[in-house]
Amino acid sequence: MSLDLSLTESQQLIQRTAREFAERRVAPRASELDREAAFPEELVRGLAELGLLGVNVRQEFGGAEAGALAYSLAMTEIARACASTAVTMAVTNMVGEVIQAFGDDAQRAHHLPLLTSGAHLTGAFALSEPAVGSDAAKLTTIARRDGDTYVLDGQKQWITNGAHAGVIVVWARTGGPGPRGISCFLVERGAAGLVVGRAEDKHGLRGSNTVPLTFDACRVPASCRLGEEGVGFRIAMMALDGGRIGIASQSIGIATAGLEAATRYAKERVAFGRPLAEHQAVQFMLADSAAELDAARMLTWRAATLKDRGDRFTQEASMAKLYASEAANRVCNRAMQVLGGYGYVRDFPVERHLRDVRITTIYEGTSEIQRMVIARGLLE
Ligand SMILES: Cc1cc2nc3c(=O)[nH]c(=O)nc-3n(C[C@H](O)[C@H](O)[C@H](O)COP(=O)(O)OP(=O)(O)OC[C@H]3O[C@@H](n4cnc5c(N)ncnc54)[C@H](O)[C@@H]3O)c2cc1C
Repeated sequence: MSLDLSLTESQQLIQRTAREFAERRVAPRASELDREAAFPEELVRGLAELGLLGVNVRQEFGGAEAGALAYSLAMTEIARACASTAVTMAVTNMVGEVIQAFGDDAQRAHHLPLLTSGAHLTGAFALSEPAVGSDAAKLTTIARRDGDTYVLDGQKQWITNGAHAGVIVVWARTGGPGPRGISCFLVERGAAGLVVGRAEDKHGLRGSNTVPLTFDACRVPASCRLGEEGVGFRIAMMALDGGRIGIASQSIGIATAGLEAATRYAKERVAFGRPLAEHQAVQFMLADSAAELDAARMLTWRAATLKDRGDRFTQEASMAKLYASEAANRVCNRAMQVLGGYGYVRDFPVERHLRDVRITTIYEGTSEIQRMVIARGLLE
């Protein structure tokens, strides 16, 4: 591929819009959202007003239609201010894109304007189950066909936005074992038989909502099926390819905030008669972080650019997600080291960044799963 690192005007506009909103509205609330484990409802409505709940959704459905790279830039800006708000936005964008790509005309016309306008508030993506995470092809939730309806029974686990979503994309088994027996459904908020469980008490991302969902004879019209029977797993994998660009971008945003905090602090704090920033060991920590963050950004922009061009990007998205999430963890860890004791207390945001960044090597495919995807591509 040819290499052009310049951003188009519309990409720069989305980046500026997200940065301005993040600095003015999101950053001032991040610490409180974390402390109180409060869902950022007002901020989600603000994101909707700016087109940031459907960055890569077509304008006819209320989206910004700005592409995957623009989405990555926006996600990084929001995550730099608040990782919880960012993941809420990420999953909603992912649901919008999945409906746009695989929905029929009626599903698109109904759900996409509700998602992009914030009327649905958020979307949710329900693949994981209590006994099945990485090995999603073994999921056990059942969808039984009954006339012109399906009846869903089973449990989902760790569902981001689950208590606040107007629409939940749910994966369930309509056929035999393995990936070809899986289909996908759009279940709306308040569906009879959908029970939202208690929100998880998490290590980080405390302002985001993560809940188990129970489907207890939850009956939905057959028109809620997304795609044909048996293609659900393929839909999930394609959605996750795009989602991984989002999580790589989120990682970069959190780590950028960590590096900025460490750099500021290193210039102010004096030890052994000079600012920390004049001690070479501290400079090297900052330099390693800056270099790793730039490498993460390049991998992520490459994956997003391939997606924008309509090329295959599965491998590149996994490389971006693997590298960016692991690097972001190192960057936030070093940031805490630079702050010393002050890094370890809640008065400074670095402590929150380190808790928030930890999830990025786990969700939307752990680092081990990304390595499996990359190796499969190498060896095929
Ligand atoms: C805050 C949060 C939000 C989430 N949001 C969502 C959501 O919105 N929707 C959703 O569907 N899911 C969501 N998840 C679930 C998340 O995607 C899973 O936790 C993740 O995929 C890992 O699955 P698991 O937890 O079952 O771990 P497991 O699959 O049990 O894995 C445990 C460990 O074993 C390793 N491992 C597993 N298999 C292999 C292998 N073959 N080779 C080497 N190592 C292996 C894993 O890498 C990991 O280190 C969320 C999770 C959290 C914590």
